[in-house]
Amino acid sequence: MGKRYHCDFCDKTFQDNLQSRRRHLRGLGHQQRRQEWYAAYRDAATILAEESGKVACRKFQNTGRCDFGQSCRFSHCSSEELQRLRDRVEDESRGYHGDADGPAPSLQDWLQQHERRSGIRVDLPAGFPPPDQLPPSLRPPPLGGWPSEPLTQWG
Ligand SMILES: [Zn+2]
Ligand SMILES: [Zn+2]
Repeated sequence: MGKRYHCDFCDKTFQDNLQSRRRHLRGLGHQQRRQEWYAAYRDAATILAEESGKVACRKFQNTGRCDFGQSCRFSHCSSEELQRLRDRVEDESRGYHGDADGPAPSLQDWLQQHERRSGIRVDLPAGFPPPDQLPPSLRPPPLGGWPSEPLTQWG
């Protein structure tokens, strides 16, 4: 038995040679699964924007399946799924990226939030100084970034 090629997208193994690899990678089934795989990793906001701009897929609504899969130009999202997406988008804009206009959360706040979300507790090492007592080189940049220094010619 020669070398085998395993396609992670399709979970399929076949003899590894240029010809069958090409045939597989060009195959419609593979391209669709590949697209679906990437689609699953897009962020909720992108999916929501795309799905809410589409008309519901009749075939999918009626039969629960559609041969076009993710590449269908009609939406396969049910209204519950759309609602879940909306919740997720809201969560993401609130929790994960923080309030863009508000002050940055303190390290302690962030760690507490992290613990609540993931159930993983991270303790700062004993004796870790509060951020404003860190040596200057370890402090976070000031709000609005570092002041730009005039260009200095050396030498
Ligand atoms: Zn494949
Ligand atoms: Zn469809």
